[in-house]
Amino acid sequence: MGGETPTQSKPRSEYPVLAPKPVGQLISDIYKDRISQFYARGQWEKNNLLAMMNEGVASGEPHVQLAVWDAPDQTRPTFEDAVSHEFKKTKVGEWFGPSWSTHWFKVTLKVPGDLLDKRLLELHWDANNEGMVWTDDGKPLQGLTGGGERVEWVLPDSFRDGKEHTIYVEMACNGMFGNAPGGDLIQPPDPNKFFRLDRAEVVAVNPDARQLWIDIWIIGDAAREFPADSWEQHKALKTCNEIIEAFELGSKESLKKCRKIAQQYIGPNVDSAKVYDSGKEAVVTGIGHCHIDSCWLWPFAETKRKSARSWSNQCNLMERYPELNFACSQAQQYKWLKELYPYVFERVKTKVAEGRFHPIGGSWVEHDTNMPSGESLVRQFLYGQRFFESNFGKRCQTFWLPDTFGYSSQLPQLCRLAGMNRFLTQKLSWNNINKFPHTTFNWVALDGSQVICHMPPSETYTAEAHFGDVKRSMSQHKSLDQDATSLLVFGKGDGGGGPTWQHIEKLRRCRGISDTVGLLPRIHLGNSVDDFFDRLELKADTFVTWYGELYFELHRGTYTTQANNKRNNRKSELVLRDLELLATIASIKDKSYKYPKKDFDDMWESVLLCQFHDCLPGSSIRMAYDESDEFYAKLFMTAGAILKDISKVLGVARVQTSTVADGVALNTLPWHRKGLIDISETEAAVACGHGPFLKLRKFKTSEEKPEVTLKKLAGGIFVLENNQLKVHVKDGLVTSLYDKSAEREVIPKGKKANQYVIFDDKPLYWQAWDVEVYHLDTRKELPAGKTKVHEEKNHRVSVVTETKISDKSHIEAVISLSAAVDGEQSYVEVESKVVWNETMKFLKVEFPVDVRSTEASYETQFGVVKRPTHFNTSWDMAKFEVCVHKFADLSENGYGVSILNDSKYGFATTGSLMRLSLLRSPKAPDATADMGTHRIRWAILPHEGSLGHTTVRKAFEFNSPLKLVSPTSSAARAALLDTPPVQLTSDSSPSLVLDTVKRGEDDEDVSRGELPKKKGQSVVLRIYDSLGGRARGTVATTWDIKKVSKTNLLEDELEEVAFGDGKFAIDLRPFEVATYKVQLA
Ligand SMILES: [Zn+2]
Repeated sequence: MGGETPTQSKPRSEYPVLAPKPVGQLISDIYKDRISQFYARGQWEKNNLLAMMNEGVASGEPHVQLAVWDAPDQTRPTFEDAVSHEFKKTKVGEWFGPSWSTHWFKVTLKVPGDLLDKRLLELHWDANNEGMVWTDDGKPLQGLTGGGERVEWVLPDSFRDGKEHTIYVEMACNGMFGNAPGGDLIQPPDPNKFFRLDRAEVVAVNPDARQLWIDIWIIGDAAREFPADSWEQHKALKTCNEIIEAFELGSKESLKKCRKIAQQYIGPNVDSAKVYDSGKEAVVTGIGHCHIDSCWLWPFAETKRKSARSWSNQCNLMERYPELNFACSQAQQYKWLKELYPYVFERVKTKVAEGRFHPIGGSWVEHDTNMPSGESLVRQFLYGQRFFESNFGKRCQTFWLPDTFGYSSQLPQLCRLAGMNRFLTQKLSWNNINKFPHTTFNWVALDGSQVICHMPPSETYTAEAHFGDVKRSMSQHKSLDQDATSLLVFGKGDGGGGPTWQHIEKLRRCRGISDTVGLLPRIHLGNSVDDFFDRLELKADTFVTWYGELYFELHRGTYTTQANNKRNNRKSELVLRDLELLATIASIKDKSYKYPKKDFDDMWESVLLCQFHDCLPGSSIRMAYDESDEFYAKLFMTAGAILKDISKVLGVARVQTSTVADGVALNTLPWHRKGLIDISETEAAVACGHGPFLKLRKFKTSEEKPEVTLKKLAGGIFVLENNQLKVHVKDGLVTSLYDKSAEREVIPKGKKANQYVIFDDKPLYWQAWDVEVYHLDTRKELPAGKTKVHEEKNHRVSVVTETKISDKSHIEAVISLSAAVDGEQSYVEVESKVVWNETMKFLKVEFPVDVRSTEASYETQFGVVKRPTHFNTSWDMAKFEVCVHKFADLSENGYGVSILNDSKYGFATTGSLMRLSLLRSPKAPDATADMGTHRIRWAILPHEGSLGHTTVRKAFEFNSPLKLVSPTSSAARAALLDTPPVQLTSDSSPSLVLDTVKRGEDDEDVSRGELPKKKGQSVVLRIYDSLGGRARGTVATTWDIKKVSKTNLLEDELEEVAFGDGKFAIDLRPFEVATYKVQLA
C-alpha cells in the first residue's frame, strides 16, 4: 500500500466552464394554469387542441335531413305509433317543447364523399335534453344527453356508402335532472320549458386529437393534484408543458409527437384495455354504474325511458371497451325494460351472460329503509331476487343502496336471509355533523347477524372517473389498518346515463400513471363488485364492527314530508298483511278459490316501487305523487275486490250488523284480543278471542256505575275517566293523566300533553329532505281554543278542541277515552283533522311525561331501536329527529309511556319530552307538498313495567282496528269462530309476533311460473321476537301437516322442523326473524 500517484478523474461531459444563458425556475402556478388553456373552449378554441378535434363536419341538407312529429300533450308513444304519423320538415335551431313533451325526429344521413374514409364517423346531436337513437326498423340503440354530456353516436360502417340512411331520434323534453327553472335543481319544474336543437351533424373525429386531450387532461390533473413535494407532481407539470410546446396547430404529425411525450408519464398502453394487463396488484376496483332514481325530479313514466337509454349506452360501450364492467340495481327497472324495450333487454341479457353487465342489489328498487315495514323489506328482497333469478339465472350477492337516506338496524339480518352477505352504500359521507369512521367494516344487526359493508372512499356513486376520484380512493380510506382496497363507482347518475367513453379513457390513463410513475393508487377495471367483495370476505374477521342502525345525519325531514304518501304506505302494508292471511285460509279451505297471486304481486310491486328512496321519503316532484296516488288508489280498489271474493269463500257478508247475536269481529292480529267495537251510532260490543274472527257480546253498563264518564269541572276542565285512567283536559291540552292501578301521575306537574307546537323549517338547502338542528330554537306553542264535549256514550267519551295555526290552517282534535276492558291496557286516543296551508313550517305535538331515562325506544322493522334522549355528544345530538314506526316509548324501571301512531314516522325524545312530528311544508321540489287536509291518529299509552308486549300489541291494534262483519249463516258463523287455522299458542312468549301468513311462492296452485313449481300446498309463516330476548313458543295449526321447514326469506328450505299433533316448537334468539314453511298433506 502507498506510494501510488493519485490519478485525476476525467470530465464525463462537455460541461462548459461559462454559463451560456440564465435559466429560471419553472413558476409552478403559471405553468399549471397554462395546461387547461391548451384544451379550453372560448377564446383559445380556434388555436388550441380543440381546433384539431375534427377532420370534417357535415351539417344541413343533403347530408343531414330532419323531419319531426310532435307527440300530443305529455304522451310517450311507442316507436310503431310514432312512425305511423306524418313527419314535417325541421332544422337545427328550432325549439321544441313544452316540458315533458316528446318529439320524434326522422334523421336522414348521407356521409359526404370526402369523409367516407375517415377513421371515426359520429353523429353529434345536442338538443339540451334527453334522447334515444332508434334504427329505422324500431331498434333502440343509444341514449343521448344534451348540454354536451353524451352527444355522440358512432355511425355504423354500413353508412360509409355515400347513400342515404335513416334513423330516428326520440326527444324527451326534460334534462337529465328534469325541468327545474334556472340553475336551482330542486325547484318545482317549469311546465313551459323549450329546448333548442343546437347540433345535428356528421363529424369525422380525429382520434389522435381526442386521445391527446384525455392524455393531457389526466397528466394535468397529476400536476395539479399530486403533492408539491413529490417528484411525480413536478414530472407531470414538465410533461404537460413539453406536450404544449410540441403541439403545432394543423399538424397531424405533431399530435403523434405530443402523444409520444405523454407516454413518458402514462406509459405506452393507454389506447387499449392492455393497460390493465401489467399484472401488478391493484387496490382500487373501478365499476361502471348508473344510478337511476325511479322517480325524483321527473315522473316514474320517464324513468322507464331513462333505463332504456342508459343501459343501451352501456351495451354499446362494452363493445368498444372490453374492460368495462357495469353494475346496476333495481329489478323494477329491468322489468320495465323487459316489457317496454325487449330489444334492449335481450342485449342486456347477453351482456349479463358474458359477465359484463351485473344485476346487483337483490331488491325491487333502491328503497328507503327507514319507513317500510319489516315485511316490506322482506318483499323488496323476495321480489328482487326472484326477478333476478328467473331472468338471469342468478341471485345477487350484494345489497346495493348508495343513495338511500340511512339504514335501519335489521338490514344485515334480512340481507343474510335473502342470500346476500355484502352491502354497499356511501350516503353517510353526506352526514353534516359527524364523519362516519369506517370505509370497510362488519355491520351488525339487532339479532347479531352481520354483513360486510363497504363505503367507497371516493364518497360518490356517480364518480366522473377523475384523477382525484382515484386518488381519494386511498387518501380518504378510513379502514387502512385492515384493508386498503376499495371500489370506485363511476358513471353519470341520479338521472341515469352511466359511464361515458371519457370516463373509461381517463381511467386507462390513471392506471398507466400508477404503473409508469406510481404514487396514484393502482386501479383495475374488468372485475365485478362480487370479485371485490370475494377478496374482502377472506379477511372479514379482522374488520371493525358497527352495531345497530347506520343513522344518516341529514334528510331527517323525510320521515314527515308527503304525509299522504306515507299514510298510503302504512295502510297498504296493513291491507296486504290482512289479505294474504285471509286468502291463505280461504285457498286451503276451498280448493276452488284461487289465491290471487297476480293481484298480490301487482299490489306488492306498487307498494315496493313507492318505497323508492325519493318517493316514500317525500323528496320527489308533484308529478311523481300524482302517479303514486294512482298506484295506491288502484291497490285499494283491488284489495276491496279480493276481500269480497274471500268473504264469499269464508261465509262472510261484508255488511255491518247491528245486532250482536250474529255478528263477529274480523281480527287479523295473532294474539288473544279483547276490545270494544262500535256496532251502531250509540252502542258497542266487546270482541274477545283468538283468531281471525272473534265472538261478540254486548257491552253493558249500568247507570249507577258507568264504565267511562265525562265531567266538566270549573275553569273549563273536562275529566274523562274509566277504571284505569283519569284524564284532565283543558283547552285541548292534557293537564293530568292519572294511572289508577299504578297510582301515578303521567304528566309532570305544571306540564301539558298533546300540546301542538310549530317550528320555522328552513333547512340549509334540501327543503323536502332536511329539517335542520336550529329549527328547535324556533318552537312556538299553539294556543288552543275552548274545549267542548264531542261524544258522551256509554262506552266512549270525547272532547273536541279547535286550534288555530294561522288564518289558513287549523286543527280540530278529538281526545277520547273508551271504557277500559278487563286485562287490557287503556289509552287516551287523539284524532286530529289538520287543515294545513303553511309555508316552511313544521307541526308537531308534544307529550311531556314523568319518566326519566337516558334512552328512548322506537319501533323499527322486526324490533326496537334505542336512541339517546340527551345531547351528550355530537353523535347523540345528531339524532334530534328520528324514525319511528307504530310506537315510541320512554320507560324507566317499572313504568313507562308509549306514544302510538297510525301513519307517522318522525319522532324525537329529549329528556322527558316526547314529540311526534305531524306535518311539514317545504316548497321544493313540490311546492304543494302536504297542503290540504290530513287525518292523523295517535294515542298516549301509559304502562306498568318497562317496554313490553303491551305496547307492541296495542300499537298493532291501534293500526288494525277490529272490523264488524256478519256471517252468511249460522253454520258459517260457527265455522268462523272455530279454532283458528294457525296460531301461536297462548303459552308462547308474548314478545313473539306471527307477522305474516302467506302461501308458498311456488306452490303449484299459486305459482305464476317464473320459477319451477312445487307440488302441493304450503303456508309460509314469518315470526319475530319483537322485544330483544330469547323467545320460545309453539305454532299450532288445524291444517294437516306433511312437513315443516325453517326457510330463509326467499323460501329456500334450510332445515326440517319436528312437528306432531299439528304443532311445532320455535325458539328464537333476540330480535330474530324466522320464516317457516308448512307443507300441507
Ligand atoms: Zn337516488
